[in-house]
Amino acid sequence: MPRELNHFINGKNITGKSGRFCDVYNPNTGAVQAKTPLATTAEVGEAIAAAQAAFPAWAAMNPQRRARVMFRFKALLEENMDELAALLSAEHGKVIDDSKGDVQRGLEVIEFACGIPHLLKGDYTEGAGPGIDVYNMRQPLGVVAGITPFNFPAMIPMWMFGVAIACGNTFILKPSEKDPSVPLRLAELMLEAGAPAGVLNVVNGDKEAVDALLEHDDVKAVSFVGSSDIAHYVYHTGAANGKRVQAMAGAKNHGIIMPDADMDQVVRDFLGAAFGSAGERCMALPVAVPVGEDTADEFIARMIPEIKKLKVGVSTDNDAHYGPVVTAAHKERVENYITMCEAEGGKMLVDGRGLKLQGHEDGFFVGPTLFDHVTADMKSYQDEIFGPVLQVVRAQTLEEAAALPSNHQYGNGVAIFTRNGRAAREFAASVQVGMVGINVPIPVPVAYHSFGGWKRSAFADVNQHGPEGVRFWTKVKTITQRWPEGDIGDQAFIIPTMG
Ligand code: NAD
Repeated sequence: MPRELNHFINGKNITGKSGRFCDVYNPNTGAVQAKTPLATTAEVGEAIAAAQAAFPAWAAMNPQRRARVMFRFKALLEENMDELAALLSAEHGKVIDDSKGDVQRGLEVIEFACGIPHLLKGDYTEGAGPGIDVYNMRQPLGVVAGITPFNFPAMIPMWMFGVAIACGNTFILKPSEKDPSVPLRLAELMLEAGAPAGVLNVVNGDKEAVDALLEHDDVKAVSFVGSSDIAHYVYHTGAANGKRVQAMAGAKNHGIIMPDADMDQVVRDFLGAAFGSAGERCMALPVAVPVGEDTADEFIARMIPEIKKLKVGVSTDNDAHYGPVVTAAHKERVENYITMCEAEGGKMLVDGRGLKLQGHEDGFFVGPTLFDHVTADMKSYQDEIFGPVLQVVRAQTLEEAAALPSNHQYGNGVAIFTRNGRAAREFAASVQVGMVGINVPIPVPVAYHSFGGWKRSAFADVNQHGPEGVRFWTKVKTITQRWPEGDIGDQAFIIPTMG
């Protein structure tokens, strides 16, 4: 019997009341292992009320004390790393090491948030006019929300709530209904770390819960990560309702291989970045663009035997390169794109469709797939596939290669592999993509920088975590003050610029 998951509201696990559920699978076996309750608008309202009640005291707490909660939370993440990784792997299908990486990258944002007293310091100008000083402060927004995708159930919630809560906001997390157990566990650990009840709430749900957050007057900001059409919907609906919104979205990242690249590194990096985590990463590298026919031929010749050696296995298999994809529906979507690419004229070199793992025949496994001679007019190239599929698009010059990511609808990440510093520098400066790797296949910025793509990869003016995260989760107040001697009523105010 699948176990029924809860919401986490006001410091307590709460049974869902809607009678509506989403199945959570064991992607290794295909069996339903749990049921996620899908919240009603009223249940979301209860979470918002709890967060609203917790806000004044949390916002008023001095930032060192809020930082101490984050320090304890970081220690609890380390202590519970194995449990969190096992839980994550069992619902998502990532192998255990990859699941630990998911928790670790979130933990690094918590480390960043531990520095919040320093990060919230304002600016001060003494003597902006005669006896006039100007200073500013960053204040929390109030109750804020995060809506997260299935593919990083630990890291992405922590990108958001780690910074938002440290800044003094109280938080409603609406995680993916496909793998919500880690987000629920993170909320329990935050309570254990000393965050008062109501500071971090988790409501599970689908569109109804998202709409309830987007429409409620007490929710001041919404951070979203997921697919582009829904990101766009969240962005404009939230903005129409007067909220601050950042909505990070889909991707199709290109890796450009120059003729002078270190081909050993290129092959190793593409095996990890195209197929790791079954390609279910927004910073995966599903398009290779070798420059010149010789580079392309060498890349293909070196990749084919390595791809054939990749071990696809259950997520608990320490030797497996990657595990199953998240659901049967996602497996079907990826396999349909493989069929589409073949029909569009892509040259199939390795076909991952129809993979059955012995003893796990109903698991959601997709084998690694390689296509050559893919072109920019193919729909399978234009769309995000989000599976273990690598498409090679041949280019004759760096200019032609760089135009591919620059003209693509998505602009999340891009990588260039070369020994030529000048070419790399010019490419990095001109390419129309938000995050660039130079001999780095997955250029996810470290926690104290900020994460965000361009074009249909992000509907946002301010990026995730790092300094931009602090800006997103706070509002600036600027104070101009003077303390004249004597009766203040006798003294005309002098505008500082005229003083
Ligand atoms: P998704 O868009 O299906 O779901 C994301 C969130 O939106 C979930 O919480 C879901 O419950 C909610 N949602 C689903 N349907 C909705 C609707 N109709 N209205 C309102 N909310 C709805 O995305 P996913 O499949 O969970 O995640 C994969 C996608 O996320 C990929 O496109 C991937 O590229 C993207 N992603 C982007 C980044 C980034 O930072 N750019 C990072 C990770 C993942």
